Amino acid sequence: MLEVLKDIVQEVNEAHDFNDVLSIIVNRVAQTISVEACSIYLIDRRKNHFQLAASVGFLPGADGHVVMGFSEGLVGLVGEREEPINVSDGPTHPRYRYFPETGEERYRAFLGVPIIHQRQLVGILAAQQRNPRKFDEGEEAFLVTISAQLSGIIAHAHMAGISAKSFLEPSTTFRGVPAAPGVGVGKGFVIYSPFNLDAIPNKKVEDISKEQQRFCDALIQTRLHIDELKSRVTGTLSPEELSLFDAYISILNGRTLREDVLALIAEGHWAPWSLRKVIKRQIRKFEQMEDLYLRERASDLLDLGRRILTHLQNKKLVETKIPKDAIIIAEDLMPSMLAEIPETIQGVISTKGSSSSHVAIIARAMGIPAVMGVSGLPVNQLEAKNIIVDGYNGEIFISPSKGMLQEFRRLVEEEKELYAGLDELRECRAETPDGRRVGLNVNTGLVADTRAAHQVGAEGVGLYRSEVPFMIRDRFPGEEEQFLIYRQLLESFAPKPVTIRTLDAGGDKHLPYLPIQEDNPFLGWRGIRITLDHPEIFLVQLRAMLRANRGLNNGRVLFPMISCLSEIEESLRLLKQAYREVCDECGETTFPKTGVMIEVPATVFQIEEIIKRVDFISIGSNDLIQYMLAVDRNNASVSTMYEPFHPAVIRALKQVIQAAQAEGKPVSICGEMAGDPLAIILLLGLGFESLSMSSHSLPSVKWIIRNFTFESAQNILKEVLTMQHAREIRKHLEHALEQAGLGGLVRAGK
Ligand code: PEP
Ligand code: MG
Repeated sequence: MLEVLKDIVQEVNEAHDFNDVLSIIVNRVAQTISVEACSIYLIDRRKNHFQLAASVGFLPGADGHVVMGFSEGLVGLVGEREEPINVSDGPTHPRYRYFPETGEERYRAFLGVPIIHQRQLVGILAAQQRNPRKFDEGEEAFLVTISAQLSGIIAHAHMAGISAKSFLEPSTTFRGVPAAPGVGVGKGFVIYSPFNLDAIPNKKVEDISKEQQRFCDALIQTRLHIDELKSRVTGTLSPEELSLFDAYISILNGRTLREDVLALIAEGHWAPWSLRKVIKRQIRKFEQMEDLYLRERASDLLDLGRRILTHLQNKKLVETKIPKDAIIIAEDLMPSMLAEIPETIQGVISTKGSSSSHVAIIARAMGIPAVMGVSGLPVNQLEAKNIIVDGYNGEIFISPSKGMLQEFRRLVEEEKELYAGLDELRECRAETPDGRRVGLNVNTGLVADTRAAHQVGAEGVGLYRSEVPFMIRDRFPGEEEQFLIYRQLLESFAPKPVTIRTLDAGGDKHLPYLPIQEDNPFLGWRGIRITLDHPEIFLVQLRAMLRANRGLNNGRVLFPMISCLSEIEESLRLLKQAYREVCDECGETTFPKTGVMIEVPATVFQIEEIIKRVDFISIGSNDLIQYMLAVDRNNASVSTMYEPFHPAVIRALKQVIQAAQAEGKPVSICGEMAGDPLAIILLLGLGFESLSMSSHSLPSVKWIIRNFTFESAQNILKEVLTMQHAREIRKHLEHALEQAGLGGLVRAGK
């Protein structure tokens, strides 16, 4: 069953359009459980009915015509109860209703299962048979599984109002998670990883013989690489295991793969897509074979395909010419990919991730509208398509009408004006009307945001994500390289303080040269855990920071992902060691102020002990929320549960700030919460005197602070602390902003 399921999902992923998807499902289900009829009904909430969208075994012409009310028929009953209905003799059931257009009077046995996506009913999948019989448990489980697996793709296409039409009909809408505010209009530019053949878009090529040559070169390079791999492991592997390499070599040398790909290129398709097409076709053939050994060869073929692709793609993203009007689209955009992309692009779309993923944070820092977690998006069909990204509402519009394009272009212009208006605030102090000062710092990591930080009048850097330069290299940067980066950063802000966080890799921040394979990367080897395990890497970084700080003395050192006191003690020990070395080599140096990030719930409960060991505290609300609520910040399916206004989160912030104040040590917040207009009132009320956010958010935060009294923020906090539900708190804060005439900022982004 599992094999069949995998097969169907794969076929669905290869489908040209939604019609095709539905037809694959009904045909394959009917075939697998040997029934004479199978049908899919989709819900139309505006018209309050289900509509037959695809069927096999019904009369021709029924699809698209048969409709039934929510309380009609067995299909209606499945929808009402949202559970499978399995009846051996449908026509005798009191809820049975017969539609002559279908010709289904022939069928007695009925099994219907709901198609549900993110708690919402999308449609019904039904199987029917002539002979009266109850479907067995295995058949029922199969239908439930197929429906659950495909509900996402069906929901998205259906929601887009394109049922039974092409995916990319004019003005197709897809929904995801709003990840970076703003509106972008441009053309699709698909970025794919060699590990994902499915994401390769179909691009046209002009120079066919050059493209064919490029493919032949990639074949030769792959062949050389495999020869090298083989000779490296000869002697270690058994002859049987070595035969895998021979199999690869014979496919590479054989005519089929080569000629099929060359033929597709000759039709004008670019090499990566042609390769994908041929590999997928051959994989399908292998997978359908009876012989288990041959079936398993399909995965070898996939591996080989990826290897050839890597050679075809042998180019870094920075070397690729990305047009200014590009809307970047990827299956799973990595922070390092985005960091390599010029900030001139118009928007970013990723099928994975959510608003607190690092890609989203970088997009916000770069001021690029982004929508993440758009499941069911046919990425490989979006190359060069006109696309609108609405980062406020988490929507994307593909091939929009002329009118829509005009309307959204107007919005883009209006936005530019709004931000130009906020520019005037640059020289103003961030001070409430009743005289409370709040230090507004920026989060940086890219050279681009340093410039932006100065433009918005930042008072310093509250968080420099030092891993960003690590992510965009192909090896660890050396001490001298790091020294230059930190020196430039510190010089550019001096005498304003710059908080440099030590390397915080792991989780969703991969270093290409330090592959980490883990089942739970956010609970695994990340942040300080990596650097403490590798003092040779940590010490180099600390030495570079200390040397860069010499004579400027505006640098501060921040340790990420601390979960216990011994990690602080060990980090400080290594910092002291690096300090002594630098003093010995370069002469007396000032020991920098040190701080700890509060990101792991355990540290909230040991805050009194932590604060005694360092000079300042910085709350990393992104991770703190993720770990307190056990919600993966990267997972779009649970993104609505990622809730900064959860009462427990607010209580944790209160506990930390009270402990810091009691000790007389500064505490700041550098997670995305600090840039969220709604959260500002709360943070102000809680007593934060310093906030760090993306440059893009700083002007609107300053505007709120200048228009909201400290006294009213404290009163609002008192009320909020009595509330038990996040949605109540949200509403209350929204109301407060509206009352103060600042409601526009809530809509204008996080
Ligand atoms: C945080 O966790 O809030 C934080 C600022 O760190 P990062 O987002 O880089 O994990
Ligand atoms: Mg963090």
